Amino acid sequence: MAKKYCYLFSEGNAKMRELLGGKGANLAEMTGMGLPVPQGFTISTEACTQYYEDGRQINPDIQAEIMEYISKMENICGKKFGDNENPLLVSVRSGARASMPGMMDTILNLGLNEKVVNVIADKSGNPRWAWDCYRRFIQMYSDVVMEVGKKYFEQLIDKMKEEKGVTQDVELTADDLKTLANQFKAEYKSKIGEEFPDDPKEQLFGAVKAVFRSWDNPRANYYRMQNDIPYSWGTAVNVQMMAFGNMGDTSGTGVAFTRNPATGEKKLMGEFLMNAQGEDVVAGVRTPMPIDKMKEIMPEVYEQFQKICNTLENHYRDMQDMEFTIEDKHLYMLQTRNGKRTAAAAIKIACDLIDEGMISEKDAIMQIDPKTLDALLHPQFDAAALKKAKPIGNALPASPGAATGEIVFTAEDAVAEGKKGKKVILVRLETSPEDIEGMHYAQGILTVRGGMTSHAAVVARGMGTCCVSGCGAIKMDEENKQFTLNGKVYKEGDVISLDGSTGNIYGEGIPTVAADTSSGYFGRIMELSDKYKALAVRTNADTPADAKQAASFGAQGIGLCRTEHMFFEPDRIAAFREMICSDTVEEREAALAKIEPMQQSDFEKLYEALGGYPVTIRFLDPPLHEFVPTTEEDIAALAKAQNKTVAQIKQIIADLHEFNPMMGHRGCRLTVTYPEIAKMQTSAIIKAAINVKKKHPDWNIVPEIMIPLTGEVKELAFVKKVVVATADELIEKSKSGLKYEVGTMIEIPRAALTADEIAKEAEFFCFGTNDLTQMTFGFSRDDAGKFLPSYYENKIYESDPFARLDQAGVGKLMDMAVTLGKKTRPTMHCGICGEHGGDPSSIEFCHKIGLDYVSCSPYRVPIARLSAAQANIKNPRK
Ligand code: PEP
Ligand code: MG
Repeated sequence: MAKKYCYLFSEGNAKMRELLGGKGANLAEMTGMGLPVPQGFTISTEACTQYYEDGRQINPDIQAEIMEYISKMENICGKKFGDNENPLLVSVRSGARASMPGMMDTILNLGLNEKVVNVIADKSGNPRWAWDCYRRFIQMYSDVVMEVGKKYFEQLIDKMKEEKGVTQDVELTADDLKTLANQFKAEYKSKIGEEFPDDPKEQLFGAVKAVFRSWDNPRANYYRMQNDIPYSWGTAVNVQMMAFGNMGDTSGTGVAFTRNPATGEKKLMGEFLMNAQGEDVVAGVRTPMPIDKMKEIMPEVYEQFQKICNTLENHYRDMQDMEFTIEDKHLYMLQTRNGKRTAAAAIKIACDLIDEGMISEKDAIMQIDPKTLDALLHPQFDAAALKKAKPIGNALPASPGAATGEIVFTAEDAVAEGKKGKKVILVRLETSPEDIEGMHYAQGILTVRGGMTSHAAVVARGMGTCCVSGCGAIKMDEENKQFTLNGKVYKEGDVISLDGSTGNIYGEGIPTVAADTSSGYFGRIMELSDKYKALAVRTNADTPADAKQAASFGAQGIGLCRTEHMFFEPDRIAAFREMICSDTVEEREAALAKIEPMQQSDFEKLYEALGGYPVTIRFLDPPLHEFVPTTEEDIAALAKAQNKTVAQIKQIIADLHEFNPMMGHRGCRLTVTYPEIAKMQTSAIIKAAINVKKKHPDWNIVPEIMIPLTGEVKELAFVKKVVVATADELIEKSKSGLKYEVGTMIEIPRAALTADEIAKEAEFFCFGTNDLTQMTFGFSRDDAGKFLPSYYENKIYESDPFARLDQAGVGKLMDMAVTLGKKTRPTMHCGICGEHGGDPSSIEFCHKIGLDYVSCSPYRVPIARLSAAQANIKNPRK
């Protein structure tokens, strides 16, 4: 039997998400529930994949099937596609498996042409509506299908409004809209060189192709990368009978959430516009009314809508985000999906749903996107400073958080300045999906137009970026890169602040303070995560301050302390440079003697901060080029301290030069050459542990000494011998009976390949996946950023392998190393401390291959706790 690519809404259900996409599956589910859904069919995601396989063509079989489903739809709707008497008009909308709000394209009112528009104008007695539909269709089709660009049409609308002396689109008459439609067609012809298509079938295939094509547009590709959505999924296309919200004052369209997506409050929240079509609400062109107003304007419809909202939330057992249209007092549901929400809302909703008996604890954990927790952990304004600051304006609190930065007016500027490490606030009339990358780099987003569900608001909330939207008081002067608010001009580069929780705008920088994670909901979700996770979550902390921060976020130990990072401060780096630039063992030992007390005191503080949890300290692993002095002043200071001439120091520096420092004299290679470094570090670690153990006899202090960059068991054995001799002597002398472990990082493919050998010496493994990724791919972690974008563009890699673990290659090495290592030493523990230790999908992989812990930077500890719980719920460990 030939493969089926089309499904009527009555043929599907919510479980068919992979095939029908989220929107199609939920339209089918709502149809099955007997809710008022304009009927239609879904062209499956497999048709999209086939379209790409066929060289971006819809093959004749699929075309025929689509037309067959159009005729099925005609029977259901009692109208005919392309008919002059009783025409069926449709919307064509994308719908991927995972929701990608605003990322792909939509076309409404398809099926219209000069003849049909006149028929519906006559028959309805509402020519204004008919011509409004037609001009919208020409506009959307030209933009989405033919890529003419919205701005030409918007300019024509603005010109018409100016001529007619009106400010709103709804004030334009039927004749104005007819003139506009004709102007649009002329514009189309001048840009494309052909007449605007009249044949509905041609329009339909043009639109379906455009949706398939939009799966591969730059903003969709960017969104997918940010959200780990595979390219191979494709998008479905929904062809649905139009319901018209632009029929006059008894019609309208809107969006609503069953709970507040910013705070989680259990209260219907939404916005709608009278006499409007879909795009108007989300595009933020007109500022909509709150949903409560509908109660006054159309009480019966409101009541019906409220009932449907409850039904949907109870059915899906999650907060719903819905789109609806009212066509002459008849309510139609156009979409429902689990709504995007802020982290604060997510944890409140999850806890409330447990308490309401709607979901289990496990469901609650699975419902929260770990990455969004980030927003909860980030700074808020300092309360005292905020009190003193006077707002210069106020608008909608679209996405919470506090942001201070320099004004930029374009997404490109936000990206450019953001990349330089500058904090910027992106100020826009309204945002569109093209702005997404700029929004990502901005600390905060301020828009002149748009409501709580505008593109800016929805996207910012998803990203956890602070956003204040709809500040109509701003007079924008984009050309000169400035705006006026409250009588004052603000230019590019001026510093402003935004409070995404109140909607206040401040004309100054306001200091921020650390986030408060003590809300009952956060604590409860973290406790639940710990209840269900199998992996331990440790932290990468180099300083006592980092360690304390991580402990407050629930870290169960330190998985990596990069000891070279303890020497960044000016008073410490001098001693470190003396050590690097020593000529003789005596000189080096003298420098090491200065370093040892600093290290010992830091280590004591680390043990204290973690309160008896395991602490792994890694031996020095400095790429030497990062530490040698470069300025004349520093070189002179070092010469003086070393009793050498400036020329001698310069010669030593020249001798230290390496062509590829990342593959150079670092890691355990340093201790093979200079065993005295291993001696000093062991001594500092062991003495610190003995001291802390004395203070806290009940703590189980077992220092874990970690040797980096091992590739050969003999080099590990060489360094370990130094460690053991030094440690045992100190422990013997102290009579403390201290236990310790010596392990290694697995960062070099050879170490993974020979892990059974390495495990003879190593008591634990910790995967340094930053280096392991670098060495496995054979590209430098410092330089890969320059060429990786071409790999994403050409779909060779879908994500950055330094951020998201390459499971097929690097992961395979890890899996092999765990198996080989445990064969030799079944009791050994294994963890990960590369950047991937804080990435949700990589954590799931680590769980699956049986690691004991993941270790990540302090702010990612809560994300890792939740991800670890999700991993164990999905794949329970026996
Ligand atoms: C690693 O390589 O993954 C690692 C944690 O070590 P570093 O980043 O310090 O090289
Ligand atoms: Mg490394």
